[in-house]
Amino acid sequence: MEISLFYNCTILTMDSNDSEASAMAIFRDKILAVGSEKEVRNSIAQFREKNRLEGGETVSLREINLNGACIVPGFIDAHMHPGIYIFYKTQKSLSGVKGYKDLERVLGEEARKCGEGQWVVGFDLMEDIFEKPEERRFPNRYDLDKICSEHPVLVLRHDGHICAVNSLALKIMGIDKSNVAEKTVEAGEIRVDENGEPTGVFTEAATAIPLGFMPLPDLQRFLDAGRIFSQELASYGITTCGGVVQLGEEGPAGKAGTFEIPLIQGLIKEGLIEQDFVFYVITTLPSELKNVEKSFQELGLGEGRFQVGGIKRFADGTFGAFTAAMFEPFSDSPRKSKGFFMTDEESLFEIIKETYKMGYQILVHAIGDRANRWVVDLYKRVVKTVKSKEGGRLRIEHASVLTPDVIRDAADLGIVLVCQPMFIDSEYTWLEKRLGPERIKNVYPFRSIIDAGIFLAGASDAPVESARVLKALQVCVTRNGFVPEQAITITEAIKMFTLNAAYALGQEKIKGSLEEGKLADFVILERNPKSVPPNRIADIRILATYHRGRLIYSPH
Ligand SMILES: [Zn+2]
Repeated sequence: MEISLFYNCTILTMDSNDSEASAMAIFRDKILAVGSEKEVRNSIAQFREKNRLEGGETVSLREINLNGACIVPGFIDAHMHPGIYIFYKTQKSLSGVKGYKDLERVLGEEARKCGEGQWVVGFDLMEDIFEKPEERRFPNRYDLDKICSEHPVLVLRHDGHICAVNSLALKIMGIDKSNVAEKTVEAGEIRVDENGEPTGVFTEAATAIPLGFMPLPDLQRFLDAGRIFSQELASYGITTCGGVVQLGEEGPAGKAGTFEIPLIQGLIKEGLIEQDFVFYVITTLPSELKNVEKSFQELGLGEGRFQVGGIKRFADGTFGAFTAAMFEPFSDSPRKSKGFFMTDEESLFEIIKETYKMGYQILVHAIGDRANRWVVDLYKRVVKTVKSKEGGRLRIEHASVLTPDVIRDAADLGIVLVCQPMFIDSEYTWLEKRLGPERIKNVYPFRSIIDAGIFLAGASDAPVESARVLKALQVCVTRNGFVPEQAITITEAIKMFTLNAAYALGQEKIKGSLEEGKLADFVILERNPKSVPPNRIADIRILATYHRGRLIYSPH
């Protein structure tokens, strides 16, 4: 038995007073004491004395001098998609590709490794960073044919919203000029050229068509990808996640989503997932939550390790696809599109009501101003109609455009808003064109949300955005200059990804701040984020990540 004492450091505890400390002791998976070095050493002495009197095993002491480093609570990402993230990791990454020559080389190498008829697949392409400006366009079937025509080829953009296939793949999928219109799905497009010939490019919901044809990788690839996934999160300081998973075919992963839960459970059984997860299930049947919960409990792991938190639904789409539900048309939409609701009001109301009554959390994706107004009104009705068992917590995911009336009502109802600072990083260059100079003031209004007294929790929506928390913290403070009056302080930003995210997951009693008795989940940073320039927060080195008292990441 051993106590670990961390001293000579600054500890941002994120407790209710945002107090700072200079030493912390941990024992097994929990925090034994936090405070000044003297206070913590006293607590350790008392603990050892009590243990001696009770005739317990001797408790040794390990002292770790942190030489001025900084400790923060383990980061919590309140909303991400672990199944899709891991699936992406099973495929060749194209993130280092810098142009068409490069793309040819990397996919060519993949093709040579493939057996006859096998698919050549590359994910994570970022054509917007290609070296030559004239090459900064997403490939089409003809580009891919030049690279490889003997194998079906599929290339997916890093945001997952657009993919391209070569001519052979189109042939295998049975899509050509004669039937492209009937194959097109709602909320997605199969692009065609001026002659009506498919270009091999698929967007949004239509990306599920080629992805559905792609064979699933073998088990070993999934195991390797699962290990890399968890290690990557640990390297970002993440110790807990809210994981959105699909139960049936309905959801962003389409048919592949039906494998998500068994896949993740397989990885857990193999001991490859280091973080805690609270899962949110995409399903229209709240009664299914109990079964899913049971299947995780049967894994027999510790309290709060792998839990089922509730249900996830969608109110609308995204800015990028012009599918977010708005009161007024998008400023740059030629068709004067206002977006649309993904579901009808009564069926969404019934699902929310049932889930809330059972004491689970409800997550509804809402991006547009009209969608957010709609969801808040639905929540108002639910709270009036039924009483929740303990634990029922109402969340809005993304909450991107919020009018002041919505912020007021969300505060009154105690709704938790789960926002993705990295959306600002991806969208700030084009969002004003899409929404216009007036509406833009209500976009990602973090300052107004916090000032209204709302719980604002942080998340990445990974793999849609990077899960790098330090980068997200930097964006909260700098906003890349986007609506700067909505910037928040670094302390508020850290709270988003620690205590407030724990609250969003219903785990604030056991984690989210560094206090006696809470889990020993923490990150050691080389420098204090409060004392570096705001535009350098993302560059702070992570020296170690601890999860339940165990070291899960160190850079060497
Ligand atoms: Zn999401």
